[in-house]
Amino acid sequence: MGEQPQRAAAICTECGNALAVQVWSDGSIRPIGTGVECSCGCETFEVLESSVSVPSPDDERERSEI
Ligand SMILES: [Zn+2]
Repeated sequence: MGEQPQRAAAICTECGNALAVQVWSDGSIRPIGTGVECSCGCETFEVLESSVSVPSPDDERERSEI
């Protein structure tokens, strides 16, 4: 098993671009498909909790609200 990232939608705080991200239990957010940063170079994202596409009981338990 191991740690599973939570998939979510997020918006880049720099350019406002919406993208899919993986939210890891250590708090790191990584865009899916584009590496570790937005195409604009920004590495800060605002996660949209209401748009989580694949919720799971394990992720709910591990999630820490910020
Ligand atoms: Zn951006």
